[in-house]
Amino acid sequence: MKCRKCGAKAAIHMPQHRLALCKEHFLEWVPEQTERFIRKYNMFRREERILVAVSGGKDSLSLWDILWRLGYQADGLYIALGIDEGIRYSAESQRLTEQFAAERGLKLHIVDVERETGFPIPVLARKTMRGQGKPCAVCGLVKRHEMNRIARDLGYDVLATGHNLDDEVAVLFGNTLNWSVEYLLRQGPVLPEEPGLARKVKPLCRFYEREMTAYALLRGIEYIYEECPFAVGSTSIAYKELLNRLENERPGAKLSFYLSFLEARQRGLFREPQEVRQALHLCPSCGQPTSAPGLCSFCRLVSRVKSSPSQTITIPNLENR
Ligand code: SF4
Ligand code: ZN
Repeated sequence: MKCRKCGAKAAIHMPQHRLALCKEHFLEWVPEQTERFIRKYNMFRREERILVAVSGGKDSLSLWDILWRLGYQADGLYIALGIDEGIRYSAESQRLTEQFAAERGLKLHIVDVERETGFPIPVLARKTMRGQGKPCAVCGLVKRHEMNRIARDLGYDVLATGHNLDDEVAVLFGNTLNWSVEYLLRQGPVLPEEPGLARKVKPLCRFYEREMTAYALLRGIEYIYEECPFAVGSTSIAYKELLNRLENERPGAKLSFYLSFLEARQRGLFREPQEVRQALHLCPSCGQPTSAPGLCSFCRLVSRVKSSPSQTITIPNLENR
């Protein structure tokens, strides 16, 4: 297979685009496409300040690298979760993220969950859930809250995450299976800002996971290969495997599923049920929106864990944004 641009040996073939490119042209193509998506979906403008949520994985580090190369003002945010049982996942991902930022002279903010809440994620999860459930619900709640807090407190215009097409399609598939209209309505490349909530964007949402892996490897980005140990056996991984089988049979199926969804959403196919659009309240402690008056889920979690450290607490009603 030859590069469509120069005829040299192709480094990657993308059947869904009927396109093969050599290393040099692929490394040009990815940022060009990203810039196209940023403009197409009105994600942000040149003069805006962007906070990139980085985990040390290939997608978020590649996103930061691409935005930096495109000349955007993009700083990083790493949330130290304290998941260090076994492979020292958090310690290693933080080391790689710091190394990435130092090599490029980029500004990196680090939030330590243990310092903010008193406990690392696995302990926080054990204290707040009955049974031996995974910590992902608590982890997601803490990450959403902290990303939004830092973006607002430090005056960033927009929060960017490295979700790729495979991530987005797996979520879309789950939401479609359940016909979760309220989640479908909120899924997309841009979530506009609301009182107390920063605008959120996903500039990589149209790249396949294998394209992002190729980008990180060809660009020489050192990233953490291991998934978080708690990701094993997750529903989203099961959906991804299923969707990969479909993609093998029908190249382009994932991309067309996602793009057709965005088009349908834009045409107003999904409407928010009346009862879902509740008035949002602002948390009196942190100022972030919450669905019911009083403390938000995060502040409730932290205050209960701090006041009764030995007790098991159930956290109802996680705000999902
Ligand atoms: Fe957090 Fe679960 Fe993701 Fe691990 S897999 S980083 S615990 S949400
Ligand atoms: Zn709060």
